[in-house]
Amino acid sequence: MNISDSETIAGYLATMNYERTNIVEEADFIFFHTCCVRDSAENKIIGRIGETIRLKEKNKDLIIVVSGCMMQQPGAAELLLNKFPHIDLMIGTSNLNSIQYLVEQVIINKLNNLKYQKAQIKCFNESNSNFDEDAPILRSSWPNSWVSITKGCNNFCTYCIVPYVRGPEISRHPENILNEVHNLLKNNYKEITLLGQNVNSYGNDLKSEWTFAKLIEIASNFEYNYRVRFMTSHPKDLSQELIETIAINKRISKHIHLPIQAGSDKVLNLMNRKYSVEKYIKLINNIRNLIPGVSITTDIMVGFPGETEEDFLETMNIVKQVQFHNAYMFIYSPRKGTPAAKMPNQISSLEKKDRISRLIKLQNKISCEISKEYLNSTYEVLVDNIISDDIYCGRTDNGRLVKFKAQDSNIIGSFVNIKIKYNKGSSLWGEII
Ligand code: SAH
Ligand code: SF4
Repeated sequence: MNISDSETIAGYLATMNYERTNIVEEADFIFFHTCCVRDSAENKIIGRIGETIRLKEKNKDLIIVVSGCMMQQPGAAELLLNKFPHIDLMIGTSNLNSIQYLVEQVIINKLNNLKYQKAQIKCFNESNSNFDEDAPILRSSWPNSWVSITKGCNNFCTYCIVPYVRGPEISRHPENILNEVHNLLKNNYKEITLLGQNVNSYGNDLKSEWTFAKLIEIASNFEYNYRVRFMTSHPKDLSQELIETIAINKRISKHIHLPIQAGSDKVLNLMNRKYSVEKYIKLINNIRNLIPGVSITTDIMVGFPGETEEDFLETMNIVKQVQFHNAYMFIYSPRKGTPAAKMPNQISSLEKKDRISRLIKLQNKISCEISKEYLNSTYEVLVDNIISDDIYCGRTDNGRLVKFKAQDSNIIGSFVNIKIKYNKGSSLWGEII
C-alpha cells in the first residue's frame, strides 16, 4: 500500500518538474513515506531521517518532507519535529493531494530566506478523506500495477494500529476502480493487484449490491491478456462466492494471501480475529478442493501478550498442518493506543526472538519442500524484472517467483513458458522453453 501511495506522491512531484534520482546526495528533495505497523519500520525511518541532517548541512536548499501512517498518530509529528528540526514539512496520508501547494509554500519561505521557519504539520483526521480520483500517479512497477479498492479498516485487531491511523473502511466507487483497471490495460499493464486492508469486505459501506467477488469478476473480464491479484483477505470474510469466482476465472491469479496470525484459539480470541483455528482449516480445505494448484501464503505473529509456549507450539503445529507456500513472520510489536499494548503477560524480547527463529526455520523447510514439487514442470510466467545482467524474474499464475536466464530485455512484460530446473531453498530457477 505504501508503494502505491508513493506512486501517487511521485506523480504530484513530477507535475512540479521533480525527477527521480537513485543518488541521494544529488537530491534536492527527499520524501519519506512512513509506516507504523511495527516498531522495526519506525526505527528504520528514524535512522534514515537522521542521515539527512548531514545532507542538509551540505545543501541548505534541500527539502525534507515526511508523510505516511506514522504522521497520523496523535502527537507523533510534533515529537519527530522536536528530534529533527531540519524537516521542512509533515503531511498526513489524507493530505497528499495538497502536496503541490504545501511544497510551494516551503520553497517560497526558502526564497524569502525564512530558512529556519518551523515546519508545517498538515496531518488531518483520516475519517474525512475520500479517494483522490484525480491523482497524477507516476507508476514505477510496470508490467505490474496497484489499484486501491478500499482504504482504512473497521476490524480493530487488538495489536493493530491501522484502524487508528488510516481511519474507518471506505470502499472506492466501483466505476472508478473499473475505469482505472481498463486504462491500465490500454496502457499495456499485464498485472493488476487490487488493494485493501480487507478486500473481502469491499462494498459493505456502499448502499448497493457490490461484493468483492462481483468486482474482481468484472475487473478480470476485459479483453486483454493479463492477470488480476488481490491483497489482503481476512479469513472471517472470505466468501464462498469469491472462492468460486477465483476457481472459474482464468485471469484471476490462483494465489490467496490469508493471514492466520496465530494457531491457538485463545490467542486468536485475544487478538479479536473473529475466527477459530478449526474454521480457518475448513476454509483452507474448501479453497484447495475448489481451486487446484492454488498457493496459500500467510502472516504469522509470535509473542502476542499471553502467548504461552503451548500456544506457540499450536502455531507451529498449524504451520506443519497447513503447509503454506510462504509466510511473513513477525515478532509482536506493542503499538501505543492499541488494546494489546496494555494487556498483561507481555512476552520478553528473548522469548519472542527464540520463537520467531524456530518458526522461520520450520517455515523455510516447508517452503523448500513445496518448491521441490515444482521441479520439471512448466509454468506460464509473467516476466516483470531483470535481476542482473542476463538473469530475469517473474511470477507464475499462483504467485511463485521464478528466476531464469534470458538475453533480451524486451522479454519484460511478456508471458513465457518456463520449465523449473532446480530450487535454491524456496526460490525456483528454470529455463525458457
Ligand atoms: N490488513 C491485513 C494486515 C495488514 S498489516 C490483514 O488483516 O491481513 C500486515 C501484517 O502485519 C499483519 O497481518 C500482522 O501479521 C502484522 N502486524 C500488524 N500489527 C502488528 C504488530 N503490532 N506487531 C507485529 N506484527 C504486526
Ligand atoms: Fe489491522 Fe486487523 Fe485491519 Fe488487518 S484487519 S489492518 S490486521 S485491524
